[in-house]
Amino acid sequence: MKVGIVGAGLVGASAANAIVLRGVVTELVLVDVNSEKAAAEAADVAHVTPFSFPVRVWAGGMEALAGSSVVVLTAGLSQKPGQTRIELLQRNAEIVRSVVPEVVAHAPDAVLLVATNPVDLMTMVAERSSAEAGLPSERVLGTGTMLDTARFRQIVGARVGVDVSHVHGYVVGEHGDSEVLVWSSLDIAGRPLAEFARAKDRASTPEDRREIEDEVVNAAYRIIEGKGATYYGVAAVIAKAVEVVVRDRRSILTVSAWSPSYDCSLSLPRLVSGTGVVREVGVSMDERERDRLERSAAVLQEGAASIGL
Ligand code: NAD
Repeated sequence: MKVGIVGAGLVGASAANAIVLRGVVTELVLVDVNSEKAAAEAADVAHVTPFSFPVRVWAGGMEALAGSSVVVLTAGLSQKPGQTRIELLQRNAEIVRSVVPEVVAHAPDAVLLVATNPVDLMTMVAERSSAEAGLPSERVLGTGTMLDTARFRQIVGARVGVDVSHVHGYVVGEHGDSEVLVWSSLDIAGRPLAEFARAKDRASTPEDRREIEDEVVNAAYRIIEGKGATYYGVAAVIAKAVEVVVRDRRSILTVSAWSPSYDCSLSLPRLVSGTGVVREVGVSMDERERDRLERSAAVLQEGAASIGL
């Protein structure tokens, strides 16, 4: 199984490393306008393989993507301290518009996984550009709120003192300021949070929820303040999504994809297989959460209109 990554910056190189450590591919190719950087990152990651799994890691031009099952898009500018994801919009839209037709020309059977921010709008741009090149829309997905969902589950698990694998919950909507934490359907080992938290003598008060929301929604800003960029978390997300596609796992992931009901690309729990998105799975929400999701979609529709989508 071959996977390509376009953009060998912090996110692309970290994703390459995470994919190699996960052992889900046999060949990994890095492509970047800065070909020297791509070659150097490929060499560095290749040296991980004696300690992980046999993977041929190399760098090349767009033609090197031929035969890829998944192509990950991480090319673009990253968020600077204090900058919102929407501010990256114009510049990254140009990059995605220029890269996608070339990706589809060289790897017409690939699933396209977009990580470039603002990821929902870049997923929309990629979807439009790839449709013009003949790729079905279910083959285009964005990392969306997979990272926010992971943060939500990790923070709740840590607070309640339970292994995160027992925490089931979703963050939906925009990967960004308007995202929605779906508290009403969060459960721990099949029990509602409030019940479980009480049983463990840990409160789940409105104040706790406000603190957790703040930690999840503002995680990226705080990490960027502290170290200039975020990349390990999203790299793990990319490696997971790649595994789901190449192994045809039929996992439920909060990937971003086109939603006719919300008239934009946003994240909802979706069944993902070897051919990309199979369908939306749905999540039960209370009225307040549904309203917030509508508002999140409105933010994305406005962003889309601003770049002529
Ligand atoms: P970076 O600046 O380290 O790397 C970007 C790379 O893209 C550079 O190496 C650059 O040369 C390359 N590039 C630019 N234009 C290109 C083109 N046309 N073709 C090929 N390569 C091109 O940035 P980064 O920190 O790796 O971030 C990359 C993107 O990922 C940013 O948009 C960032 O906001 C986003 N990101 C997304 C998430 C998420 O959860 N989705 C998380 C973190 C970062």
